[in-house]
Amino acid sequence: MLQATENETNEPHTSQAAYPNAHRLLRALGYQTSQRGVQLDVDGVQYILTPGIHQKDFWHGTHRNPRMFFSWFKNRRRRKLLAEPFPETWQSTLEHQVGHYAVLPESDQARLRDIVRILVAEKEWEGCRGLELTDEIRVTIAAMAAVLVIGFDDFYFEQVQTILVYPNEYVVKEERALAGGATLEEESDRLGEAHYRGPVILSWAEIRHNALEPGHGQNLVFHEFAHQLDMLNGAIDGTPVLPDVDLAQRWARIMDREYRRLRQAERHGRETLLDPYGASEPAEFFAVATECFFDAPRAMHAEYPELYDLFRDYYKQDPAGWLAFER
Ligand SMILES: [Zn+2]
Repeated sequence: MLQATENETNEPHTSQAAYPNAHRLLRALGYQTSQRGVQLDVDGVQYILTPGIHQKDFWHGTHRNPRMFFSWFKNRRRRKLLAEPFPETWQSTLEHQVGHYAVLPESDQARLRDIVRILVAEKEWEGCRGLELTDEIRVTIAAMAAVLVIGFDDFYFEQVQTILVYPNEYVVKEERALAGGATLEEESDRLGEAHYRGPVILSWAEIRHNALEPGHGQNLVFHEFAHQLDMLNGAIDGTPVLPDVDLAQRWARIMDREYRRLRQAERHGRETLLDPYGASEPAEFFAVATECFFDAPRAMHAEYPELYDLFRDYYKQDPAGWLAFER
């Protein structure tokens, strides 16, 4: 989606040649397109924009930038959604199933509820291996994903379209290339995965436990959605999109140092607050440190003060100041 719009300029398109791009762009955004034109669903009303008739409206006028055009529809839908009262059963899920909710400042709780509504409404949620998805499951997952982005302006993991939920750990068949061109099929147990512009895959048993019993520095939803933040700039390397040079320089220096420190500790079998899995590669280090930042913030602040400050400045949140909840 980002690639499709990056090539567009802010100049209005005047030629018919722009139209196939519009098709591609709309399809990438999840809209249905056909020979007749582009079908849009706006608040339940179907519109078909056909080339040659509405094309000018489409790219001209106040919507000079196609991205602005779509966000206008999206914002309208979202405003409508957020104007409705927050469902009581969802509120009960937040209060009883999601330990993080109670420790947040009130303004953050309100923001979290809005993000939850948008994530539940806009993502495709699928239960796998017989798991029937309920609102409790969707709201719990959405709430924990929301915790990560409370400090960001209007960010709803746009690149994640689908969230797949398995009841427990799931087994993945992997093919490993062997010398001489043969492949070996192996099975591995997984709790979660994050794919570049693809689905987030999660295990409900693990998530439910993380949500009910926070404060141990581990949380599968934080981990997988941290990978999604990392991927936003196209590289899965432990460096997400950073807003300024100063933070980028600090990021490089502190993350490099702490990653090496964790690797050292792991090699010597020393116990660490950060999950030693973070020593496997920088992307995992970022995901593991994110888990710790939101799930054991006071301990992280005490043990890794510079890393904590770095994450505070990136996420624009200060979880060590939340009500105490750590075990
Ligand atoms: Zn990971």
